[in-house]
Amino acid sequence: MYITKQKSDLIQLLTGYKNEGDSIGFVPTMGALHAGHISLIEEAEKKNAKVVASVFVNPTQFNDPKDFEKYPITIEKDIQMLAKAGCDMLFLPSVSEMYPEGLSDLETYDFGFLETVLDGAARPGHFQGVGQVVSRLMEIVQPDDLYLGQKDFQQCLIISELVKQKGYKAQLNYVPTKREPDGLAMSSRNKRLTDKQRATASLIYQCLISIEAQNGQKPFSIVQKECQDIMMDKGLRPDYIMLANAETLELLEDYDASKKMVALLAAYAGDVRLIDNLILKK
Ligand code: AMP
Repeated sequence: MYITKQKSDLIQLLTGYKNEGDSIGFVPTMGALHAGHISLIEEAEKKNAKVVASVFVNPTQFNDPKDFEKYPITIEKDIQMLAKAGCDMLFLPSVSEMYPEGLSDLETYDFGFLETVLDGAARPGHFQGVGQVVSRLMEIVQPDDLYLGQKDFQQCLIISELVKQKGYKAQLNYVPTKREPDGLAMSSRNKRLTDKQRATASLIYQCLISIEAQNGQKPFSIVQKECQDIMMDKGLRPDYIMLANAETLELLEDYDASKKMVALLAAYAGDVRLIDNLILKK
């Protein structure tokens, strides 16, 4: 696996591959890799001749400085996992390589309604930061395919909007959420959980499953309250438990069989914020 910290090196290598007619798949990450990230690499390998991953903990998308400071870094292990998975190139830029102009007065994006709900409302500035880093990475890599995890459902819609606004030619590929045996969505942040928090965190997925199972049985407001009570009883602090139109992210007060629905949940275990979602089966 070719590893570089310099965008000029990566661009040079990629230009060679592109001139040979190789298609490029791109998997951006913040590192502390797990099997969920590797499933994105594997999807890219199925479709693209060459696969690039990036590991960059983007400071501009952390609205909470403590969350940024505590973000796990396991770069040696990440390199081993990517190499083992057959990734061709790893881009490991520094903050100054990504933001040579500094971190103030960065560009802003108009994501409209998408940025006003759920994580957009709970984490002011977060999706602006996502836009800033993803646009820079896309301009460096210029991939044919971009791979994103459905675990970050709102981020998928935000990046789809970014790709549209910027006119990038990459096709978006959404990869299903990889879960632990008890259903907890794999996340780099899971490493920060205590054993007790880790054990109760599986309630997040259980709540999503119960929201799906009770579709057509009870009003959503009742199911929402039940989920909230169960989580709080076990020491999790729900941030939101919502039902939305999966295409637009418009929030729904109740189940609506005429729409493709997604249940979305964010909760704190101690100071670790976890998110998950489930697209409801009809
Ligand atoms: P992150 O390193 O958290 O920025 O994630 C990098 C990419 O991996 C994003 O597209 C995430 O949505 C995706 N991802 C993170 N966790 C999972 C998971 N459990 N299953 C599938 N994809 C994931």
